[in-house]
Amino acid sequence: MKIDILSRSTSLYSTKRLIEEAEKAGHKTRAVNVLYCDIKLEKQKPLVYYHAEKLPKPDAIIPRIGSSITFYGTAIVRQFEMMGCFSTVSSNALVMSRDKLHSLQKLSRSGVGMPSTVFTNFGEHTDDICELVDGPPVVIKVLEGTQGIGVNLAKTLEEADAIIDAHNDLKSRVIVQEFIEEAGGADLRAFVVGDKVVGAMKRQAQKGEFRSNLHRGGTAKKIQLSRAEEQTAIAAAKALGLGVCGVDLLQSSRGPLVLEVNSSPGLEGIEGATGVNIAKEIIKYVEKNA
Ligand code: ADP
Repeated sequence: MKIDILSRSTSLYSTKRLIEEAEKAGHKTRAVNVLYCDIKLEKQKPLVYYHAEKLPKPDAIIPRIGSSITFYGTAIVRQFEMMGCFSTVSSNALVMSRDKLHSLQKLSRSGVGMPSTVFTNFGEHTDDICELVDGPPVVIKVLEGTQGIGVNLAKTLEEADAIIDAHNDLKSRVIVQEFIEEAGGADLRAFVVGDKVVGAMKRQAQKGEFRSNLHRGGTAKKIQLSRAEEQTAIAAAKALGLGVCGVDLLQSSRGPLVLEVNSSPGLEGIEGATGVNIAKEIIKYVEKNA
């Protein structure tokens, strides 16, 4: 099979591992940097040009699109779809997964557990907003944030007011969320491929920090998920139409709560923590579905 990995660099861990496992399985691979792709549209002939040369159609693509290039990256993924290539993440699911609010709306409807969340256009009734999510304390998150950036814990109404005010001034949109204190500064990352969880890790925040992101100094270790955690992760992936994704969960007194679903989950942390060959699982998923 011909498999294109859409990635900005072959030196990235995830890209390297996917190429390695695909070639071990006898496939031909090519790393394609979407930023150097052009798309050509004309009657019944969708094409992708790469460095100004027509790109031969691959059988499948594995998009690894960073959040800063979502718009352009998605246009390229869609073009490959129009050419009839299988993609491990559809362009529609990719766009939705990058919109925290839209994803939470879908998740809420699907019936998976999630922290109560409020989104408002009107920032002058912080007390009502906090009350809706049983706070303070509340967690305030900017909609476009990643890696824990723009995620704040407000312990009092005054703190919540100040943070929401600052965001209003900057015209940045936020969601206000119930703080799950019993998660103890930890979250779970379940790596879903197809309809199963192929590996899971628990990330623990540094002392004095509630965000467990590895980029914020969190540490990761392998974990065996409970049945409820596993089912929740699979249901969340399904609700967002993602065949390959990382589902982040909080352990709460009322069971697993989905925080978010990542459509370009990194492989380094999860392979390192679990010892599972996740890249091989993704290639097997491509073989089965392309
Ligand atoms: P990002 O997408 O930037 O990583 P998240 O929503 O995943 O943002 O939040 C970052 C981290 O903050 C999570 O991994 C978790 O450890 C912590 N966290 C986020 N929301 C809550 C919450 N409602 N209650 C408790 N901890 C939270």
